[in-house]
Amino acid sequence: MDLMKMKLRMRMILFTVAILSMFIASGVWAEPQKILSAIDANSSNCKVVSQKVFDFKELGQQEFKSSALLMEELRKLGFKVEGDLKVPADLVKDGIAKTAFRAELQGKGPGPTITIMLEYDALKNGHSCGHNLIATSGLLAAAGLAQVMKDTPGRILVIGTPDEERGSLGGGKIALLEGGYFEGSDIVFITHPADRWNADMRYLAMKRGTFVFKGKASHAAASPHKGISALDAVVLMFNATDMLREHVRQDVRIHGIIKKGGDAVNIVPEIAEAEFAVRALDTTTMEETYNKVVNCARAGELATGAKLEFKEPRTSLKAPIIVPPLTKMVLDQAKALGVTESEIKASVDSGSSDLGNVGNTYPTAELKFKIAPEGTPGHSDAFRDYAGSEEGWKATIITGKAIALAAYDLLIHPDKVKAIQEKFKELKAKEGK
Ligand SMILES: [Zn+2]
Repeated sequence: MDLMKMKLRMRMILFTVAILSMFIASGVWAEPQKILSAIDANSSNCKVVSQKVFDFKELGQQEFKSSALLMEELRKLGFKVEGDLKVPADLVKDGIAKTAFRAELQGKGPGPTITIMLEYDALKNGHSCGHNLIATSGLLAAAGLAQVMKDTPGRILVIGTPDEERGSLGGGKIALLEGGYFEGSDIVFITHPADRWNADMRYLAMKRGTFVFKGKASHAAASPHKGISALDAVVLMFNATDMLREHVRQDVRIHGIIKKGGDAVNIVPEIAEAEFAVRALDTTTMEETYNKVVNCARAGELATGAKLEFKEPRTSLKAPIIVPPLTKMVLDQAKALGVTESEIKASVDSGSSDLGNVGNTYPTAELKFKIAPEGTPGHSDAFRDYAGSEEGWKATIITGKAIALAAYDLLIHPDKVKAIQEKFKELKAKEGK
């Protein structure tokens, strides 16, 4: 490099530094910059945490080591942390969610409450849903925000929500919602690794029911006229449900299995049992369809005389209310951090999650972040390997930063929080209509 070029470059650098320090002095960039620097400073530690949670690979309700580690990290960041959360005893054994926790960090004076949810449960093949990265992207965000809270209004809640994978049993977020641990939240954030970036939150509401029919046993050849076939009632229920399929919206899913259909071919089946799950993109449509499936079971009962024994399930999964201005906020932050428009792609497939119950109660945003090539199926061994990869970690850092910056923006702009809450209420009132 010749001298002229070097001088020119030096001048450019000095100029940039001067402009930057002007902004920093004026406070425009100071706090967000502090957040980003704190996240960078914490990233190697959080990466170790992520790897540990990945290696623990604890299943739902058994995430003892993962939750203890995350609680310890949050304490180090200055959060007040409580574990062993009291929840309804019919949802979690002994009424104590031993692997859940709630951490709180007060800011400077009153202001909005921003909640960040962490997940850390694994599947049988390890972290094939990448929840280790949900936990640590949230931890990174908490580390960034912890740096500025002493000068920022409001407070941060970090809620450790176990057992997402078996969420329909109600042991995770549903138990914590019922236990009141989200109370006071104004806006809730969560993240999820994926094969693409988006904030679609496309989750199906779901209800599962078990339908038991009680008929009358009799010799199938000698005295069939004296018997009542419980299996016939189940078969009629399936037939009626199949007719219903023609008259539901495209996103509605009805799936059933026969769990018991009789004991021997020469005995009229006395007991038969079916299990059905009904799903839809909004909770109202799901509930309406579910009630129709219950009527299909009643049709089987009426036609055969086999008595239907059926109880409403204790829990069901709701669909989140998607609030576009909140979704946009999170995506805009991701874009500002270098995620390109072409990397953001709509979700095509969807399952259900207890995240929906939170997102149906509080305005919630979920940032999906790309850790794997497009088309890599979730819960696969391949996806698990990406959840432990270097590439996966890089996307996790961007995600932690995006969530922290969006949360900070809301903390200092209660007007934005209010507008999002209003929109949430408006959209919830219109759900399924
Ligand atoms: Zn997951």
